[in-house]
Amino acid sequence: MALDIALPTLCVCCREPVDGEGLCAGCWSKLSFIAPPYCPRLGIPFVYDPGPDMLSMEAIADPPAYTRARAAVRFDEVARTLVHALKYQDRTDLAPAMGRWMARAGHELLGEADILVPVPLHWRRGWSRRYNQSGALARTIERQSGVRLKGDVLRRIRATEQQVGLSRSQRASNVQGAFQVSSDARSQVQGRRVVVIDDVLTSGATVDACARALLRAKAAQVDVLVFARVVDGPRPPI
Ligand SMILES: [Zn+2]
Repeated sequence: MALDIALPTLCVCCREPVDGEGLCAGCWSKLSFIAPPYCPRLGIPFVYDPGPDMLSMEAIADPPAYTRARAAVRFDEVARTLVHALKYQDRTDLAPAMGRWMARAGHELLGEADILVPVPLHWRRGWSRRYNQSGALARTIERQSGVRLKGDVLRRIRATEQQVGLSRSQRASNVQGAFQVSSDARSQVQGRRVVVIDDVLTSGATVDACARALLRAKAAQVDVLVFARVVDGPRPPI
Protein backbone atom coordinates (compact mmCIF):
# COMPACT_ATOMS: atom_id res chain seq x y z
CA MET A 1 0.00 0.00 0.00
CA ALA A 2 2.75 2.45 0.95
CA LEU A 3 4.43 1.64 -2.34
CA ASP A 4 1.22 2.43 -4.23
CA ILE A 5 1.07 5.86 -2.67
CA ALA A 6 4.72 6.60 -3.29
CA LEU A 7 4.62 5.52 -6.95
CA PRO A 8 1.64 6.78 -8.94
CA THR A 9 0.38 4.48 -11.71
CA LEU A 10 1.79 5.47 -15.09
CA CYS A 11 -0.23 5.30 -18.30
CA VAL A 12 0.90 2.14 -20.04
CA CYS A 13 1.12 3.95 -23.39
CA CYS A 14 2.42 7.48 -22.78
CA ARG A 15 3.92 7.05 -19.25
CA GLU A 16 2.02 10.03 -17.83
CA PRO A 17 0.79 9.53 -14.24
CA VAL A 18 -2.87 8.47 -14.13
CA ASP A 19 -5.52 8.25 -11.45
CA GLY A 20 -6.62 4.68 -10.89
CA GLU A 21 -6.43 2.38 -13.87
CA GLY A 22 -3.44 2.25 -16.17
CA LEU A 23 -4.57 4.09 -19.27
CA CYS A 24 -4.96 7.88 -19.44
CA ALA A 25 -8.02 9.51 -21.01
CA GLY A 26 -6.07 10.61 -24.08
CA CYS A 27 -4.79 7.12 -24.86
CA TRP A 28 -8.16 5.58 -24.01
CA SER A 29 -9.78 7.75 -26.68
CA LYS A 30 -7.33 6.31 -29.24
CA LEU A 31 -8.62 2.77 -28.68
CA SER A 32 -10.78 1.57 -31.54
CA PHE A 33 -13.82 -0.02 -29.89
CA ILE A 34 -15.77 -2.43 -32.07
CA ALA A 35 -19.48 -1.70 -32.32
CA PRO A 36 -22.27 -2.89 -34.64
CA PRO A 37 -22.69 -3.34 -37.52
CA TYR A 38 -20.53 -6.46 -37.59
CA CYS A 39 -20.72 -10.05 -38.81
CA PRO A 40 -23.04 -11.85 -36.38
CA ARG A 41 -20.78 -14.91 -36.42
CA LEU A 42 -17.21 -13.61 -36.49
CA GLY A 43 -17.73 -10.11 -35.09
CA ILE A 44 -15.78 -8.55 -37.99
CA PRO A 45 -16.94 -4.93 -38.36
CA PHE A 46 -18.87 -3.98 -41.50
CA VAL A 47 -18.55 -0.61 -43.22
CA TYR A 48 -22.33 -0.30 -43.51
CA ASP A 49 -25.28 -2.14 -41.99
CA PRO A 50 -26.43 -4.90 -44.36
CA GLY A 51 -29.39 -5.78 -42.14
CA PRO A 52 -29.72 -8.62 -39.64
CA ASP A 53 -28.20 -12.06 -40.23
CA MET A 54 -25.91 -11.04 -43.08
CA LEU A 55 -22.62 -12.88 -42.67
CA SER A 56 -19.10 -11.84 -43.63
CA MET A 57 -17.33 -13.52 -46.53
CA GLU A 58 -14.96 -15.23 -44.06
CA ALA A 59 -17.82 -16.73 -42.04
CA ILE A 60 -19.28 -18.30 -45.17
CA ALA A 61 -16.03 -19.40 -46.82
CA ASP A 62 -14.34 -20.81 -43.73
CA PRO A 63 -16.84 -21.26 -40.88
CA PRO A 64 -15.15 -21.83 -37.50
CA ALA A 65 -16.04 -24.53 -34.96
CA TYR A 66 -17.28 -21.84 -32.55
CA THR A 67 -20.67 -20.21 -33.05
CA ARG A 68 -19.84 -16.54 -32.48
CA ALA A 69 -16.84 -14.36 -31.72
CA ARG A 70 -16.80 -10.87 -30.21
CA ALA A 71 -13.95 -8.49 -29.44
CA ALA A 72 -13.78 -5.26 -27.45
CA VAL A 73 -11.31 -3.42 -29.70
CA ARG A 74 -9.38 -3.62 -32.95
CA PHE A 75 -5.81 -4.84 -32.54
CA ASP A 76 -3.80 -1.66 -33.21
CA GLU A 77 -0.81 0.01 -31.54
CA VAL A 78 -2.67 1.04 -28.37
CA ALA A 79 -4.32 -2.38 -28.02
CA ARG A 80 -0.97 -4.11 -28.63
CA THR A 81 0.64 -2.00 -25.89
CA LEU A 82 -2.10 -2.97 -23.43
CA VAL A 83 -1.89 -6.68 -24.28
CA HIS A 84 1.91 -6.77 -24.05
CA ALA A 85 1.93 -4.87 -20.75
CA LEU A 86 -0.58 -7.34 -19.28
CA LYS A 87 1.26 -10.34 -20.67
CA TYR A 88 4.91 -9.54 -20.17
CA GLN A 89 5.25 -6.54 -17.84
CA ASP A 90 3.15 -7.63 -14.86
CA ARG A 91 0.65 -4.80 -15.43
CA THR A 92 -2.11 -6.84 -13.83
CA ASP A 93 -3.76 -3.52 -12.90
CA LEU A 94 -4.94 -3.35 -16.53
CA ALA A 95 -7.00 -6.56 -16.38
CA PRO A 96 -10.10 -5.07 -14.67
CA ALA A 97 -10.61 -2.34 -17.29
CA MET A 98 -9.85 -4.66 -20.22
CA GLY A 99 -12.19 -7.30 -18.78
CA ARG A 100 -14.98 -4.74 -18.34
CA TRP A 101 -14.73 -3.63 -21.98
CA MET A 102 -14.84 -7.31 -22.99
CA ALA A 103 -17.91 -7.95 -20.83
CA ARG A 104 -19.64 -5.05 -22.60
CA ALA A 105 -18.67 -6.30 -26.08
CA GLY A 106 -19.77 -9.84 -25.20
CA HIS A 107 -22.95 -9.10 -23.22
CA GLU A 108 -25.11 -11.00 -25.73
CA LEU A 109 -22.88 -14.10 -25.50
CA LEU A 110 -22.52 -13.88 -21.73
CA GLY A 111 -26.29 -13.58 -21.29
CA GLU A 112 -26.67 -17.08 -22.72
CA ALA A 113 -23.52 -18.67 -21.26
CA ASP A 114 -23.11 -21.27 -18.51
CA ILE A 115 -19.34 -21.18 -18.05
CA LEU A 116 -16.22 -19.17 -18.99
CA VAL A 117 -13.12 -21.08 -20.09
CA PRO A 118 -9.82 -19.19 -20.55
CA VAL A 119 -7.31 -20.38 -23.14
CA PRO A 120 -4.66 -22.16 -21.08
CA LEU A 121 -0.94 -21.56 -21.25
CA HIS A 122 1.23 -24.56 -21.72
CA TRP A 123 2.56 -25.40 -18.25
CA ARG A 124 6.17 -24.78 -19.27
CA ARG A 125 5.39 -21.40 -20.70
CA GLY A 126 3.11 -20.72 -17.75
CA TRP A 127 5.98 -21.53 -15.44
CA SER A 128 8.39 -19.08 -17.05
CA ARG A 129 5.86 -16.31 -17.30
CA ARG A 130 3.75 -17.49 -14.34
CA TYR A 131 0.79 -15.44 -15.42
CA ASN A 132 -2.14 -16.41 -17.59
CA GLN A 133 -3.49 -13.19 -19.05
CA SER A 134 -6.62 -14.95 -20.34
CA GLY A 135 -7.35 -16.20 -16.82
CA ALA A 136 -6.97 -12.68 -15.41
CA LEU A 137 -9.38 -11.25 -18.00
CA ALA A 138 -11.82 -14.12 -17.35
CA ARG A 139 -11.83 -13.38 -13.59
CA THR A 140 -13.00 -9.82 -14.25
CA ILE A 141 -15.63 -11.02 -16.72
CA GLU A 142 -16.88 -13.52 -14.13
CA ARG A 143 -17.35 -10.70 -11.62
CA GLN A 144 -19.05 -8.50 -14.23
CA SER A 145 -21.40 -11.10 -15.72
CA GLY A 146 -21.94 -13.66 -12.97
CA VAL A 147 -21.03 -16.44 -15.44
CA ARG A 148 -18.83 -18.93 -13.61
CA LEU A 149 -15.18 -19.28 -14.51
CA LYS A 150 -13.83 -22.81 -14.99
CA GLY A 151 -10.10 -22.26 -15.20
CA ASP A 152 -8.94 -25.88 -15.30
CA VAL A 153 -11.36 -27.42 -17.81
CA LEU A 154 -9.11 -27.02 -20.84
CA ARG A 155 -5.54 -28.26 -20.90
CA ARG A 156 -2.79 -27.69 -23.41
CA ILE A 157 -1.60 -31.24 -24.05
CA ARG A 158 1.39 -30.41 -26.18
CA ALA A 159 3.71 -27.45 -26.53
CA THR A 160 3.03 -25.23 -29.52
CA GLU A 161 5.30 -22.81 -31.33
CA GLN A 162 4.52 -19.14 -30.82
CA GLN A 163 1.87 -18.22 -33.40
CA VAL A 164 3.70 -14.96 -34.22
CA GLY A 165 5.20 -15.05 -37.71
CA LEU A 166 3.27 -18.11 -38.89
CA SER A 167 0.94 -18.12 -41.89
CA ARG A 168 -2.76 -18.81 -41.49
CA SER A 169 -2.47 -22.50 -42.39
CA GLN A 170 0.69 -22.90 -40.28
CA ARG A 171 -1.18 -21.41 -37.34
CA ALA A 172 -4.01 -23.90 -37.76
CA SER A 173 -1.74 -26.95 -37.92
CA ASN A 174 0.41 -25.62 -35.07
CA VAL A 175 -2.49 -25.67 -32.61
CA GLN A 176 -4.49 -28.57 -34.04
CA GLY A 177 -5.06 -31.12 -31.30
CA ALA A 178 -3.12 -28.99 -28.80
CA PHE A 179 -6.05 -28.75 -26.37
CA GLN A 180 -8.05 -31.31 -24.46
CA VAL A 181 -10.80 -31.31 -21.86
CA SER A 182 -9.41 -33.31 -18.96
CA SER A 183 -11.44 -36.46 -18.29
CA ASP A 184 -12.52 -35.34 -14.81
CA ALA A 185 -13.76 -32.01 -16.24
CA ARG A 186 -15.99 -33.49 -18.96
CA SER A 187 -19.05 -33.40 -16.72
CA GLN A 188 -18.54 -29.63 -16.28
CA VAL A 189 -18.61 -29.15 -20.05
CA GLN A 190 -21.24 -31.60 -21.27
CA GLY A 191 -24.43 -29.82 -22.31
CA ARG A 192 -23.04 -26.41 -21.25
CA ARG A 193 -22.82 -23.23 -23.27
CA VAL A 194 -19.23 -22.10 -23.08
CA VAL A 195 -17.54 -18.76 -23.73
CA VAL A 196 -13.80 -19.14 -24.45
CA ILE A 197 -11.74 -16.15 -23.26
CA ASP A 198 -8.48 -14.99 -24.86
CA ASP A 199 -6.54 -11.75 -25.19
CA VAL A 200 -6.05 -11.49 -28.97
CA LEU A 201 -7.70 -13.13 -31.97
CA THR A 202 -5.48 -13.15 -35.05
CA SER A 203 -6.36 -15.99 -37.44
CA GLY A 204 -8.72 -17.57 -34.89
CA ALA A 205 -6.78 -20.86 -35.02
CA THR A 206 -6.16 -21.07 -31.26
CA VAL A 207 -9.75 -20.44 -30.18
CA ASP A 208 -10.98 -22.73 -32.97
CA ALA A 209 -8.80 -25.56 -31.59
CA CYS A 210 -10.19 -24.84 -28.10
CA ALA A 211 -13.75 -24.90 -29.44
CA ARG A 212 -13.15 -28.25 -31.12
CA ALA A 213 -11.87 -29.76 -27.87
CA LEU A 214 -14.89 -28.43 -25.96
CA LEU A 215 -17.33 -29.69 -28.60
CA ARG A 216 -15.65 -33.14 -28.50
CA ALA A 217 -16.44 -33.07 -24.77
CA LYS A 218 -20.10 -32.44 -25.73
CA ALA A 219 -20.38 -28.73 -24.97
CA ALA A 220 -23.77 -27.52 -26.20
CA GLN A 221 -22.29 -24.41 -27.79
CA VAL A 222 -18.98 -22.53 -27.84
CA ASP A 223 -18.63 -18.78 -28.30
CA VAL A 224 -15.43 -16.72 -28.16
CA LEU A 225 -14.73 -13.41 -26.42
CA VAL A 226 -11.37 -11.64 -26.83
CA PHE A 227 -9.97 -8.27 -25.89
CA ALA A 228 -8.67 -7.39 -29.37
CA ARG A 229 -9.02 -8.83 -32.82
CA VAL A 230 -7.03 -8.25 -35.97
CA VAL A 231 -9.19 -6.49 -38.56
CA ASP A 232 -7.67 -6.04 -42.00
CA GLY A 233 -9.64 -2.87 -42.62
CA PRO A 234 -13.28 -2.00 -43.04
CA ARG A 235 -14.91 -4.38 -45.46
CA PRO A 236 -18.29 -4.66 -47.12
CA PRO A 237 -20.51 -7.61 -46.23
CA ILE A 238 -21.39 -10.09 -48.96
ZN1 LIG B 1 -1.62 7.82 -21.98
